[in-house]
Amino acid sequence: MRILITGGAGFIGSHLAEMYLDRGDEVHVIDDLSTGSIENIQHLKGHPNFTYHIDTITNYHLTAELVDLADIVFHLAAAVGVRLIVESPVRTIETNIRGTEIVLSLCAKKRKRVLITSTSEVYGKLDRVPFTEDDDLVMGPTSKGRWSYACSKAIDEFMAIAYWKEKRVPTVIARLFNTVGPRQTGRYGMVIPNFVRQAITGQDITVYGDGSQSRCFTHVLDAAGALIDLAEHPAAVGEVYNVGGNKEVTILELANRIRELSGSSSEIVFVPYEEAYEEGFEDMMRRVPSIAKINELVGYAPKITLDEILTSVIEYQRGRVVNRLGAPAPLAFQV
Ligand code: UDP
Repeated sequence: MRILITGGAGFIGSHLAEMYLDRGDEVHVIDDLSTGSIENIQHLKGHPNFTYHIDTITNYHLTAELVDLADIVFHLAAAVGVRLIVESPVRTIETNIRGTEIVLSLCAKKRKRVLITSTSEVYGKLDRVPFTEDDDLVMGPTSKGRWSYACSKAIDEFMAIAYWKEKRVPTVIARLFNTVGPRQTGRYGMVIPNFVRQAITGQDITVYGDGSQSRCFTHVLDAAGALIDLAEHPAAVGEVYNVGGNKEVTILELANRIRELSGSSSEIVFVPYEEAYEEGFEDMMRRVPSIAKINELVGYAPKITLDEILTSVIEYQRGRVVNRLGAPAPLAFQV
């Protein structure tokens, strides 16, 4: 099969590319490296079934060519990460809405199957867990930057469903919940790469708020496998699926576990939200997916435990620290 991955040099996209290459499929990637990194696909460059284009999906002609040759399109190119969203709301809204519009319209023209990645962020402030796909979305006010991300992704979902209903374009939507693992960068605020970097470099581990907020983390390989199963399942078309883990952990417990597993003597410190993000920042206290729908369709159940996830990230970042301190240091230390 021929696979196109927009955002394929990103954290999740690069793992997805690797999985398809391992299966013997042909993979084409387009990525403008805005949040992705060439380092993520460095090892794939010589592969005979792999091509990549460092360009934006708003380059209509190139994207059209790539969609044309694909059997399935995975649309992952997007602005992600709470820090990026708070700092660059224009970029977030434009990238997420315009990019998806282009990808969907091209898939409609060429009648291609497309999986759109969305986010648990669309549930907004919903406080009844677990979140199920048909739950109401509870957004905050437009004056608070964070919600622009949720709304832009919700619009992407509306568009994808509309393309299926009105134009019969086979679209599938996956709402990703706190996907983590090697290659994820902490530059845009994600908690695990940040805590691990702080722990292994002896800096204070910065817990925002009082640390009682919780999340369910999923290893990227579990998530990428789920994306493949959904994209290839005929009955997934026109539907929305949560993709996540269901073991909840508080952020303070997470900080302690990372400290233990990495043998770190870093202090755990508490940072008020307004200092970490912006005045009036609203965090979600709990975020737990119901995975019943995806489990029923494709038998999905996450296999990789939190300790395995944390160990894999610690090892990955330790390797990068060693590389950086060793003689040839090809890339800046950006985790
Ligand atoms: N967080 C934290 N310290 C950090 C980064 C994040 O305590 O250095 C918290 C953040 O406020 C949130 C949780 O960790 O409550 C998960 O944050 P992330 O941005 O990874 O995911 P999201 O909030 O989008 O679920």
